[in-house]
Amino acid sequence: MDPVADDSIAALRVEAIAFLDAHASPRPADAPFVWGEGSDGVSLFEEGSLDEQRATVAREKEWAAVRYDAGFGWIDGPVELGGRGLTRAHRQAYAELERRYEVPMGACLTIGVWMVAPPLLRYGSEALQRAVLPGLHRGDILACQLFSEPGAGSDLASLTTAGVRDGGDWIVTGQKVWTSNAHVADVGMALVRTDPDAPKHRGITCLLVDMHAPGVEVRPIRQMTGGAGFNEVFLTEVRVPDSHRLGDVGGGWGAALTTLGNERTAGSSGLGLAPGPGPFARLVELVRRHGDPTDPHTRQRLAEIWSHERITTWTLDRGTAALRAGQPPGPEMSIVKLRSARRHRAIADLASAVLGPRVVADTDEWGTFAWAQYVCGVPGARLGGGTDEVQRTIVGERVLGLPKEPGP
Ligand SMILES: Cc1cc2nc3c(=O)[nH]c(=O)nc-3n(C[C@H](O)[C@H](O)[C@H](O)COP(=O)(O)OP(=O)(O)OC[C@H]3O[C@@H](n4cnc5c(N)ncnc54)[C@H](O)[C@@H]3O)c2cc1C
Repeated sequence: MDPVADDSIAALRVEAIAFLDAHASPRPADAPFVWGEGSDGVSLFEEGSLDEQRATVAREKEWAAVRYDAGFGWIDGPVELGGRGLTRAHRQAYAELERRYEVPMGACLTIGVWMVAPPLLRYGSEALQRAVLPGLHRGDILACQLFSEPGAGSDLASLTTAGVRDGGDWIVTGQKVWTSNAHVADVGMALVRTDPDAPKHRGITCLLVDMHAPGVEVRPIRQMTGGAGFNEVFLTEVRVPDSHRLGDVGGGWGAALTTLGNERTAGSSGLGLAPGPGPFARLVELVRRHGDPTDPHTRQRLAEIWSHERITTWTLDRGTAALRAGQPPGPEMSIVKLRSARRHRAIADLASAVLGPRVVADTDEWGTFAWAQYVCGVPGARLGGGTDEVQRTIVGERVLGLPKEPGP
């Protein structure tokens, strides 16, 4: 342990507690919680109506601005770009403290901060970094990820949205789909095909699209959770300045890999990104209130979920440390993604078993039907950020050294 680093983390903690005490109420350690209740009742899968989402976004943006202005919004970011120049350990120390207070979760910032900022920091021009990075962390600029298309999901490199050079601009035309948060986003990180004749991974360029530009049309998609968190995005001759390019022309795949590596970790929500109790803590509460906490089978399932959660967190820590040290995303992110999807499934299954019919019928009983949205959202965790099957192929080839999957 580095005693100097320890001292500076301790000093940050003192400063952070003073800030949080002044701006938020502490969350009582023994406060009961359920889905949909209190400011920490928001989750990855709880999206609500569009009006409810907009109200949540407004609250999250307001809190993000207060936090950023106090110096806690981008703790490990470079000072010259508006960060605080400290380490990931400092950022984590703050995040742990923030979780003990009643503050908005900040889900609307997740894509910008965890998926768009890292490739922007690595591949964007200095001017673009200065223009966008502080806003992503302060909540002034919300981002989405314009990757998947109707004909390009798992095989993302087959994408066909076209980018054609026009002087100092690109003219972008095509369709994206399943774009989370496009309906509230200000910018979209888009993969576009700029050289149809190049091998498919090398003809792709990454551009940061202004989501308010003429030619951008966003249509929300209703999900089985009842929410509408993702969208179809139609791009019709959208003009994007070349200065909004991330990486070389034809080099967009590198930026895409940086994003996907980060997405596989950020998608593991409840593993330290969000304030408030994660799904596991809520599950324990559910069992205490509506199940039988002395039942050996239930206890065994809880212990199993908890063990997986710990292992996933450690793998995630190893992977993110490597990313921050400048290494490309490794296959451990696929393991994290797989485990995280499995953990959500296990939590949903046990919650459904405890609740029985109360998970599908609103009986007005406290803390029961609120789980329905989580249970319905869990299958999506197996798909978003790359499906389970695709992650297994990555692990098979890159960890186990199995022969490469045959081409189509
Ligand atoms: C909640 C959620 C949020 C999302 N957010 C975004 C977003 O913000 N931006 C964005 O761009 N996209 C987003 N997506 C899209 C997501 O990345 C794609 O759904 C995913 O990559 C799979 O693509 P697909 O839906 O086209 O399925 P397909 O690729 O058509 O796959 C269909 C099935 O075939 C299987 N399969 C495909 N290829 C193989 C193979 N080689 N070997 C074995 N099995 C295979 C898949 O595993 C899957 O079960 C989101 C999806 C979800 C569910």
